[in-house]
Amino acid sequence: MSNQGTLFRQIPKVDELLKLPAVAKRLEGDSRAMVVEAVRQATEELREEIKEGRREQLPTQGEWEENILNLLEEKSQSHLRRVINGTGIILHTNLGRACLAPQAMEAVEAAASHYSNLEYDLEQGTRGSRYSHVTQLLKELTGAEDAMVVNNNAAAVLLILSSLTKGGEVIISRGELVEIGGSFRIPAIMEQSGSHLVEVGTTNKTHFADYEQAIDPERTVALLKVHTSNFRVMGFTQEVPLADLVKLGHAHNLPVIHDLGSGALVSLEEYGIKDEPTVQQSMQAGVDVLSFSGDKLLGGPQAGIILGKAQYIAKMKKHPLTRALRIDKMTLAALEATLRLYRDREQAVGNIPLLKMLSQTRETLTPKAELLAQKIAGTTHDCTVTVMEEFGQVGGGSVPTQMLPSMVVAIRPHTISPDELESRLRHCKIPVVGRISHDRFLLDVRTIEPEDFDLIGENLKACLARP
Ligand SMILES: *Cc1c(COP(=O)(O)O)cnc(C)c1O
Repeated sequence: MSNQGTLFRQIPKVDELLKLPAVAKRLEGDSRAMVVEAVRQATEELREEIKEGRREQLPTQGEWEENILNLLEEKSQSHLRRVINGTGIILHTNLGRACLAPQAMEAVEAAASHYSNLEYDLEQGTRGSRYSHVTQLLKELTGAEDAMVVNNNAAAVLLILSSLTKGGEVIISRGELVEIGGSFRIPAIMEQSGSHLVEVGTTNKTHFADYEQAIDPERTVALLKVHTSNFRVMGFTQEVPLADLVKLGHAHNLPVIHDLGSGALVSLEEYGIKDEPTVQQSMQAGVDVLSFSGDKLLGGPQAGIILGKAQYIAKMKKHPLTRALRIDKMTLAALEATLRLYRDREQAVGNIPLLKMLSQTRETLTPKAELLAQKIAGTTHDCTVTVMEEFGQVGGGSVPTQMLPSMVVAIRPHTISPDELESRLRHCKIPVVGRISHDRFLLDVRTIEPEDFDLIGENLKACLARP
């Protein structure tokens, strides 16, 4: 204790540390506040170490300088930065969901660094609509009467309910009272919109008659169907087909609303994904309004796309929330470019990273995994590398039961534990995120670009070189 007390008293003052040659030099180029903060943090960390008994001596001058420069290096890096996704989860929500197609990136760049006709009608020379850039395309691709877009699908659902069903009763199956994540739960959104939820059926089974009996000619204003995108109920189950629900709604003059969630614009059956409805199927069933995400199975930017009958879209455009939920110009640019690719399936599959990744099979992934394994083995001898069969996932709360047959590179470090390796790779300048299984660190090559293989090798080498 007394030794600890002595050590604490001997810790140099911030002003003294700022005079260390290497630190003083940084004061010339970097912001003073940032350097002072790094020095403060270095002394703070030392205090912690002393307190926990991990230190019995003060750092030498060289150590002080090194610690402070390392902290400065960390602080000068951008906080939001790219990572390498080795999880095999294509739409990893924590890693930013969908990556954009090159065409979308070009459009973002142009929209961001120049002026644009965002809300300017070039024909007339008058004020235009920000939705006009995607409305025509969405109509063409889906057969919808009209369309608009907002910030994300959560916003889309809130806007639809707020503008169409406020004050009235909305009927929904008990099997579809979904929580999307965070505090986005259908009953809560319903309440937020000022609509009243009427639950029908049970968790596993809801029949046509359940909806029919719940319709109150005075109070019911809509029927709502929510795609159970992030979970599946198996076994003794029944839901009412969308087309039947539409018939029922229309017989009673009620709009039928569909929250599709994932929103695939092309059938994903050829990639083995069978139970995911497409946007077009929902439109063809005759729903009045539907919405879906831009950055799930569409493979575009974060956005909420709303399609439907012109009279309902017009109502939504006039709602005050629309301004609060409005889509940004960079997002809009990326969305338009992504949608353009869907005019031709080959263009879409060839350019949209989500679809490219989905279309890879064990056959195409095997040589890719072998190449990465070779690169790693050629860069460092501090680990054993093998190629194995594994499973990845779509992620992003989409097709949750679908496992994607994949190939991984399994790394068994010689000098440190797999957990330590996992942690060190997360702390690299360009972090590599993977997972631990059977005492090995796994990298699923489905979600990794071959251009990054060298970088992964270098990162591994650096991480394994330290004891
Ligand atoms: C994902 C999802 C949402 C929310 O979409 P975001 O674009 O993430 O806001 C809403 N409803 C369903 C059914 C979903 O799957």
